[in-house]
Amino acid sequence: MAKCDYCGTSILFGGVKDGDLRFCNDQCHAGGQLLAIAQQIPPDLLEETVRETHQGNCPKCRGRGPVDVHTSHRVWSALLLTNWSSRPQVCCRSCGVKSKLGDMVFSGVLGWWGFPWGIIVTPVQIIRNFFGMFGGPDPARPSKELEHFVRLMIAENAARQAAVTQSPTASGETSE
Ligand SMILES: [Zn+2]
Ligand SMILES: [Zn+2]
Repeated sequence: MAKCDYCGTSILFGGVKDGDLRFCNDQCHAGGQLLAIAQQIPPDLLEETVRETHQGNCPKCRGRGPVDVHTSHRVWSALLLTNWSSRPQVCCRSCGVKSKLGDMVFSGVLGWWGFPWGIIVTPVQIIRNFFGMFGGPDPARPSKELEHFVRLMIAENAARQAAVTQSPTASGETSE
């Protein structure tokens, strides 16, 4: 199955293509531009930040880690329209299980009511959540997904800082 090059989520159907890269939607496509910056992060900095994130407290519940990427899957339908998505979150295991349970109930109630995709995708999403609750990332070490996420987080900060430091000097106009 193809994976989004930005968020790492499996793409069931469709998505956005850009050369060799694939993304689940336009938002991820825009984020994909950060990948260029992300490739240049020094390995030491990356490794240390990944370890800190993994051992740190859960950003959602403030509980104890290990923290990793937990993805839940949902779908809702309205007659001919069916909308499905996968939501990766950086959180602790118990927050991850809660999101999967929540999305399982959500999909079980709202997923079926579209033809034909609702009927096809709803069991897929429910099964993905179900098995995700028992599998999921190895708590002993940070997953590749977490490394990817942290890499993008550092790139995003770098891009924002570059924008901040550039803006006063870049507008070289004087009003007098
Ligand atoms: Zn994506
Ligand atoms: Zn948590």
